[in-house]
This record gives sequence, C-alpha cells and structure tokens, in this order.
Amino acid sequence: MNKINNKTQVIIVGAGPAGISCAITLARAGKQVVLIERGMFAGSKNVFGGAIYTQPTKEIFPNFETDAPLERHNIIHNFMILGEKDSTSIAYRNDFGGSYSVIRGKFDRWAADQAKKEGVVIVEQTVVRELLKEDNKVIGVKTELEEYFSDIVILADGVNSLLAKQIGLRKEIETKDVALSVKEVIKLDKEIINQRFNLTDSQGAIGEIFGGPMLGMLGLGFMYTNTDSVTIGLGITLNDLVKSNQRPYEFLEKVKSHPSIAPLIEGGTLKEYSAHLIPEGGYKKVPKLCDNGVMIVGDAGMLVNNLHWEGTNLAMISGKLAAETAIVALNTNDFSKKMLSKYEKSLKNSFVLKDMHTYRNLMDIAHQRQKAFLDYYLRKINAFFEMFTTVNSVPKKQNYHGFIKSIFTDRKISELFKDVIAVIKLVWSILI
Ligand SMILES: Cc1cc2nc3c(=O)[nH]c(=O)nc-3n(C[C@H](O)[C@H](O)[C@H](O)COP(=O)(O)OP(=O)(O)OC[C@H]3O[C@@H](n4cnc5c(N)ncnc54)[C@H](O)[C@@H]3O)c2cc1C
Repeated sequence: MNKINNKTQVIIVGAGPAGISCAITLARAGKQVVLIERGMFAGSKNVFGGAIYTQPTKEIFPNFETDAPLERHNIIHNFMILGEKDSTSIAYRNDFGGSYSVIRGKFDRWAADQAKKEGVVIVEQTVVRELLKEDNKVIGVKTELEEYFSDIVILADGVNSLLAKQIGLRKEIETKDVALSVKEVIKLDKEIINQRFNLTDSQGAIGEIFGGPMLGMLGLGFMYTNTDSVTIGLGITLNDLVKSNQRPYEFLEKVKSHPSIAPLIEGGTLKEYSAHLIPEGGYKKVPKLCDNGVMIVGDAGMLVNNLHWEGTNLAMISGKLAAETAIVALNTNDFSKKMLSKYEKSLKNSFVLKDMHTYRNLMDIAHQRQKAFLDYYLRKINAFFEMFTTVNSVPKKQNYHGFIKSIFTDRKISELFKDVIAVIKLVWSILI
C-alpha cells in the first residue's frame, strides 16, 4: 500500500455532530480532512430525542436557523412526575427558547453537505475496523478494504468507540454507566399537535418524564414535538434494566398508556422505532482524550451532560476544540501527545468539562440514593398534590398533619437523614 497516495492531514471517524463540527472547522482553516462514516449517509445511524441548541449550533453553522431542516422551535419545557395513575407537571414557557427539535437523519445529512461545500471529503458506507500505529503513534485507519494514513486521527465514533478501546484509551463501559434508550416517532397531524401541546405554527414542546413505570430506576422519559410527529422515548441504565427483567419497550408502552401521556399521542401512527446507548458515567468516567496522533471527541469521550439532556452541544464544541488543536499541531508539524493535550486543556476551560465537573458527584449520589429520589420523593410530590386538591370535608390542618406524619412513618428517620446529607453534599459540590 502506497502511504503517500492514501495520506491526508486529518482523518475523522464518525459523521455525527462531533465529527462534522470537527471536520468543518479544519476545512475552514484550509486543512485536508477525510470524514469516514459507516452509515449510508451522515445521520442514517443516529438516534436521539431530541433538541439541538441554538447558541452552540450557531458557532459551527452560523446560518442554521434559516438553512437547516429544523422541525420546531422549542418554547415549552414540561417537567412531568408520573405516579401510577396521577402526575404533577410544571411547564416553563419562553417564546424565545434556545433549542429546536430536529430529525437527525435530515439534520446530520444537511450538516454533512455543509462540510462537503467547505472542502471536507466524506467517505460513506465505510467502517473503520482498526487504528494503525507506528512507533507508538496513531498513523491512520484500516477500513474493510483499505488503509488510509494521516498526521492526526480524530475519533468521533460515538458511545461505543471500539477504536478508543482498541488503543487502550477507554475501558469497557460498566452497565451502570450507560443507559439504553428506546424511542418511537409517532405521526400526528400538525394542527392536532398544536392543539394538544398548546402551540402555534412551528412552536415546539419538550417533555421530561420522571417516575411512572421507571419509579425507583435510574431512568427518564422524554417527548419532543416535530412538525407532524411526536417523539417519545426513555432511557434506563443497563444495570437497572437487567435487574428489572423487563424489556425497554415494555416500559415505553407503560409510559405511552399513562393517563397523562396517552391523550397527547392518541390516534397517532408509529413511524419509526429505534434504540441507542447514552453515556451516563459523567465526569469521573471521561477517559484520556488524546495520545500521540489521536484525539477523542463527543460521545466517544463520554462527553454528555445527562441531567440537562445535553449531548449534541458537547459533541459539536468538543469537535471544534479538537480541530483548533489539530490546526496548531499541523502548523507546527507536532503530533505528539503533549501537543494534542492542548485539546484537553481547552475542554477544561470550556463549559464542556466545567459543566461535567459541576455534576461530578451526581451519578454517585444518584446510584446511592436512587430509591429515595427516583421513587419515594416522586411519590410524595404526587401525594402532596393529591392531599392539597382533595375535597373531603376533613379539616385541612388534619390533612397537613397526616401528610407530614407520613413522611416520617413511611421512611426511617435514619434514611431521611441520609437523604438530606446527600442533597447537601450534591448542592455543595455543584456550587463550590
Ligand atoms: C434517545 C436519545 C436522546 C437524546 N436526546 C438528546 C437531545 O435532546 N439533545 C442533545 O443534545 N443530545 C441528545 N442525545 C445525545 C446525543 O444524541 C449525542 O450526545 C450526540 O449524538 C453525540 O454525537 P457524536 O457525534 O459524538 O456521536 P454520534 O452522533 O453517535 O455519531 C457517531 C457516528 O460515528 C459513526 N461510526 C461509529 N463507528 C464507526 C466506525 N467504526 N467507522 C465509521 N463510522 C463509525 C456512527 O455511524 C455515527 O454516525 C440523545 C441521545 C439519545 C440516544
């Protein structure tokens, strides 16, 4: 194999938001980039809720609000706590909301077309099987058919990143650090969506769903309105799924049939069903993100802020920051780990690792106290509103006393004490 003919400056594996943002930033600086994607086209393999966020997306695609295939502009966030038959919701509405619902198959394809226009060479339907190394430096990739060489390889190959594992930068993900997500896209008339979700024109709503069939599990549900469909899904850690002995779609069926959810999707027809993993390990599980000749971006580096449902923005900005380091490396002809570690420094100085650091203790506390915070207190919130809204000729003071007493009788004082300490620890680590 002639190395010279098959050599470029940067090879990126994976055309998701991380890989495309990385590629486009490099191409704009006049660098040669080859972006390799295993799917038929960018986005064909990608699954998400979901929303992309205006500010970070604009950093990569300044005109995306007018040019990209967007579904709806999200202006409502509904936070729903489902009990077995009841629910409590809080809706936050802001007509200038900062995100859009998109269908990844369409959006990623559009984004990849923008990258092509800027000079990125995209090779689709090609799986990178392994990384090529020489003298302890990554020097290229091997696909099913060929070997390609480059000064730098950037891994944007998503949550599983077999390639990062292959070179020892990542370990096997533990089942508690990854959620399996399933979702359905349900077709509904645009006007019906507008009526049911209190929207007009192209306004959109996001639903964050706690509890219901997932009570006590580390899992959340979600709903997004698209132009003429609704996406509904949930993600549960693999650990809890295995323990539950139930299949993810059984949980989804239960969410869909909950009295607070069913009327929103009634009469719709199933358009699409898909499943995907989400990295849930948080800051403590972020691996080393570079080595000689190689950097890792997006989900491949476990860069997801699960509490805020943020993944695409961390993917895009990590891709951009890796590209900026690659540009300096190419200009100075230095592809050493030391040089590429500038990328890790820029991530640390950006919101990406700052936010992940802010929530560094979240997952530990969530695992330790999940029965409390994802079962007991969720039930109590619904129980409070049941008590508050019930008219039964019992004096209100007696209802309040009964409710407060139940907090101490339903749960051991020692457990309540541990819950309070956990909240204090969490808040402290978030604020300090
Ligand atoms: C159900 C669900 C809902 C979500 N909702 C949201 C949301 O609302 N908002 C949000 O911001 N984030 C959300 N996320 C997270 C978000 O989707 C990810 O964080 C984001 O897609 C990560 O981008 P990425 O480019 O790193 O990886 P990916 O988007 O996973 O892209 C990786 C790409 O690499 C390709 N690839 C993998 N291996 C190879 C190989 N060996 N050779 C060639 N190509 C390869 C894949 O085909 C894929 O195209 C959600 C995720 C899920 C699963």
